[in-house]
Amino acid sequence: PVVARFCPSPTGNPHVGMARTALFSWAFARHHGGRFVFRIEDTDASRDSQESYDLLVDVMRWLGLDWDEGVEVGGPNGPYRQSERSDVYADVVQRLLDAGYAYKAYDTAEELEERREKARAEGRPSGYDGLHRDLTDEQRAAYEAEGRKPVIRFRMPAKDWTFDDLVRGPITFGAENVQDFVIVRANGQPLYTLTNPTDDALMGITHVLRGEDILSSTPRQIALYEAFAQVGVGQGLIPRFGHLPYVLGQGNKKLSKRDPESNLLGYREQGFLPEGLLNYLALLGWSLPAVDGQERDVFTLEEMVRAFDVTRVNPNPARFDLKKCEAINGDHVRLLDATDVCERLVPYLQAAGLVADPVTAQEHAMLSAATPLVHERVGVLGEAVDMLRFLFIDEEHFTIDEKDRAKQLDEAGLDVVRAAVGALESIGETTEWSCPTIEGALRVALVDELGLKPRLAFGPVRVAVTGSRISPPLFESLELLGRSRTLARLRAVL
Ligand code: GLU
Repeated sequence: PVVARFCPSPTGNPHVGMARTALFSWAFARHHGGRFVFRIEDTDASRDSQESYDLLVDVMRWLGLDWDEGVEVGGPNGPYRQSERSDVYADVVQRLLDAGYAYKAYDTAEELEERREKARAEGRPSGYDGLHRDLTDEQRAAYEAEGRKPVIRFRMPAKDWTFDDLVRGPITFGAENVQDFVIVRANGQPLYTLTNPTDDALMGITHVLRGEDILSSTPRQIALYEAFAQVGVGQGLIPRFGHLPYVLGQGNKKLSKRDPESNLLGYREQGFLPEGLLNYLALLGWSLPAVDGQERDVFTLEEMVRAFDVTRVNPNPARFDLKKCEAINGDHVRLLDATDVCERLVPYLQAAGLVADPVTAQEHAMLSAATPLVHERVGVLGEAVDMLRFLFIDEEHFTIDEKDRAKQLDEAGLDVVRAAVGALESIGETTEWSCPTIEGALRVALVDELGLKPRLAFGPVRVAVTGSRISPPLFESLELLGRSRTLARLRAVL
């Protein structure tokens, strides 16, 4: 059975590259009916934070990438935070030392640097030269007596390393490029290169999908697995690896954690739907197989799971295109029914301070009536909040965009508003205040009587009432706003 995992380090804000990795591993596990493990690699106390851990858990739940085993949910192979597994690593290191797969090395930083310089100058590989591989007991005792604290290095077997990458096919690293590497620091802290394969082995991970940036660590990890099999760590199984392509941001530069478009939380704040964002992330290296020659960019998570074949992942760098991401998200907004959009808008309106928490019945009624006005129009829910602000804002906080005011509410614009007030005052008393009566009255007064083109006629009214040139359809907006608020806003600009 397939067991895949996602194992980020909790540093900084969760980013797009991470979510893409999580999604692909998750989809792989789900496609194969396997298990998905979520573990946290927090062995670097100087960089890891609880805040970042909480955000990771939160964002995985928001995305809906559920895990069968891991942090918060537990499981048979816990704990799932590496910071709680020190005794596990100590035991593994001891086994490796006892069996001669690892050794203590006492070189100082200066000594290493000096030898590295020399190797470079002579055109030899500049990794560790193995000088302390086979120290005698006396030599070790002498270094200890000097007060030197050893690191622990893994003894790399002298051979080439070939593995069949699920995305890239066969990859070989020559023996000369993979030297003995540090698995435990001089201060006793085990490194990612040890803890990551240890946990993969103990948690029975069968498939590792991860970013291309750590491709070069794979031969070292495979060497460790081979040693683990000899010293009784795990089931003796070597996982298959698949390295996912780089994600490029603006200017075709590698998207960095620090780029603003990388920040996952930003997408949630702007009102991306998890399903829209996941759909777009899926396209960073993968695509739904064409049916009858027809490609399709918009699909559900279920469709992705059903079709996900990791060998179809394109090894070439994928370009992150925010416009496309928004467009895909908009398509997912369209796929929701209006009630669902309405419910999902509530927290965004609350965050903007436009409705109460919990939302009142009256606000809710207004929102469900207004949702159809934005449902077809927005890429992200935050845009809907901007469009609906005029309906929910109380009159004393209502403001008009200054640029739009200058353009639309000049002398001529105010004449239009005056005529609109006259026309609208006459409805809503004997006739109904509704979209068709409002439209009828305004057309007669502004288009027929003033002789204005519709585009010019309605701009000033729109700006005066909604505060912006960009709004949902005007007549529907006025109907929802109601007669008295509409007239009050029109009179206020005069
Ligand atoms: N914690 C590692 C990282 O954040 C995970 C490496 C892996 O997926 O094997 O890069």
